[in-house]
Amino acid sequence: MIEVRGVSKRYGRTTAVDGLSFEVLPGRVTGFLGPNGAGKSTTMRLIMGLHHPDSGEINVNGRRFVDSRYPLSEVGAHLEARSVDGARSAFNHLLALAYANGLPRSRVTEMLETVGLAGVGRKRVKGFSLGMAQRLGIAAALLGNPPILLFDEPMNGLDPEGIKWVRDLLKGLAAQGRTIFVSSHLMSEMAITADHIVVIGHGRLIADAPASELVSRQAARSVLVRSPRAPELAEALQRAGAVVNFGQDWSLTVSGMDAARVGEFAAEAGIVLHELSPQEGSLEEAYLELTAAASDYHGVLGG
Ligand code: ADP
Repeated sequence: MIEVRGVSKRYGRTTAVDGLSFEVLPGRVTGFLGPNGAGKSTTMRLIMGLHHPDSGEINVNGRRFVDSRYPLSEVGAHLEARSVDGARSAFNHLLALAYANGLPRSRVTEMLETVGLAGVGRKRVKGFSLGMAQRLGIAAALLGNPPILLFDEPMNGLDPEGIKWVRDLLKGLAAQGRTIFVSSHLMSEMAITADHIVVIGHGRLIADAPASELVSRQAARSVLVRSPRAPELAEALQRAGAVVNFGQDWSLTVSGMDAARVGEFAAEAGIVLHELSPQEGSLEEAYLELTAAASDYHGVLGG
């Protein structure tokens, strides 16, 4: 379990993380979303003890991670795909990490196989594609068989097959009861990978909820309506405070009012409906709505 409590971090005049609190629980994949510059990487570096917060507290399994002696067997992290010394082979890179952490050589061979790099283990990392570098970073994170794993954008640069591989890997690790915290800007991917979502913007918490709840929250706010008297209905709904958008085929997308209320409204006005369907929300829509609302808020405050 990871606990982030009231954490702030400034770089000069930039506040990268601003009073952030959330928890990452074991047994599920927690997706970490936010626009570029939201503070995701900074938060991950703070959790890893690579940077120190200006205020607040971070606990990993009940204690501060910097106190750990064999970090790789407690927390595995894959933060930057390109941070490896390019002159080394993948094997030697992992071997150095293994030795530094008291892990056997056999673990290196095993991990190269797990991530599909066994055939290129002796090649220099310099020649690796971004996708291969991602796999190597994931191997390094898994090396110590840690119960807690952090991945910063692990799907970047991977082909669809690689993305599916990472997704299955993360889900499998969570199913083993591990704590999995993964940042991504690929909303569609997170929708099918993450069980729980933490969204931040401008270093602040925007949402912390089950992925399904974020989607249904968003879905509940939008209803597709078709009626032979669409313009009249739209006017009435708008007067009642709903936001109405016209589709090209005169369908209406109504938000701010649920389907039942729209139906009752139409009945009261004696307007026939040909369709009344709550919209399937997507995590991407929910995310865009949340982050847009946060930008407006910060825009007003000048933050
Ligand atoms: P994200 O990972 O969500 O894209 P980051 O954590 O990388 O966001 O960045 C958050 C903010 O902090 C950005 O404004 C970024 O420019 C700034 N920042 C991040 N790291 C540093 C650093 N080492 N020095 C100065 N500013 C930084």
